[in-house]
Amino acid sequence: MIKGIFPTEKFQHIETPFYWYDMDLLRETLNVIRNECGNKPFHVHYAIKANANPVILKEIASYGFGADCVSGNEILRALECGFKPDKIAFAGVGKTDKEIGIGLDHDIFCFNVESIPELEVLNSLAKERNRKARVALRINPNVDAHTHKYITTGLNENKFGINEQDLPAILQIFRNSTHIELIGMHFHIGSQITDLSSFEDLCVKATELQEWFNQQGIMLPVINVGGGLGINYQHPNHCPIADFESYFRLFEKYLKLQDNQTLHFELGRSVVAPCGSLITRVVYVKEGLEKNFLIVDAGMTDLIRPALYQAFHHIENISSDLNYQPYDVVGPICESSDVFGHERLLNTSKRGDLIAIRSAGAYGETMVSQYNCREKPASYFSDHI
Ligand SMILES: *Cc1c(COP(=O)(O)O)cnc(C)c1O
Repeated sequence: MIKGIFPTEKFQHIETPFYWYDMDLLRETLNVIRNECGNKPFHVHYAIKANANPVILKEIASYGFGADCVSGNEILRALECGFKPDKIAFAGVGKTDKEIGIGLDHDIFCFNVESIPELEVLNSLAKERNRKARVALRINPNVDAHTHKYITTGLNENKFGINEQDLPAILQIFRNSTHIELIGMHFHIGSQITDLSSFEDLCVKATELQEWFNQQGIMLPVINVGGGLGINYQHPNHCPIADFESYFRLFEKYLKLQDNQTLHFELGRSVVAPCGSLITRVVYVKEGLEKNFLIVDAGMTDLIRPALYQAFHHIENISSDLNYQPYDVVGPICESSDVFGHERLLNTSKRGDLIAIRSAGAYGETMVSQYNCREKPASYFSDHI
């Protein structure tokens, strides 16, 4: 049994629930990514929305990666934490004038534009400032990511992205606009993608589109394939680092870059999910008629993924070595969906035991809410405890 990775003794006096980040694992992951991209024209923009904790962001920025932002405040946070403006991409279907202004004022690398009206607004706001905005068109490749429907984003009927049919009209807008410059195509087909063949489909589609642009006499220096690489939520101890090697090799093999073209990635989950755990305490062990419940002090307000997308997180008791028993692990919130796991095998547990909900470093802390007037969970880091 692997209990070793958590300093359970040191956790005893910390108020629960809290987020715990294994900074060595984060650095190991960042090293793998940097080594895989090092000798290729590949650039990684970390997706801030996965985890915007300043300690985590500063670590990632220190490796020289860029940032992928989906709000004006994310741009400001990224800048505060050391990301360079010329490595910031800004995506999102509903960028407000204020947010576009933040991007323009900092002269960020690129706006990933998702609609015709957005493109027109961007041009006029850039004109007011006498700037030229660099644009990558977020094109809907109609590729199925084979992932949960709430995190699939690349299908035609999705709210994200521009449909291929609109491209000729968009090129016309660029011809008539003085303050926007087309530099690339952008895609993002979904999240937690473990079937890498979806990315192969994306490469095929990107190549087709690339040829279409070339036929129009346009050479795009930037191809941005978004994020989406999945992690192994089932086995966090055995597979703590996502398969970046296969992932990057796939793009190298299936997407032939043209001269001076760079390939951009916006990885979020795969960078930070494994290094985070939500640590919670058993408040009550409740014996039901047919099953036993572990009622813990963390709830869906602290980690909403199970309630929101029926997501699986490995759960373990880090205080007990006793025999395994099945439990339903549930939170205290007044919602029936406030369940972390059904019929999970955990060491026999008692009131006061510490429970680790694993792989919670992505879309965990950033999605915390204060429903039921709850306090936000604190965060602790393996470097400082
Ligand atoms: C969320 C998002 C990402 C990151 O996705 P992951 O699945 O966490 O890698 C990248 N690009 C865009 C545009 C996004 O919205």
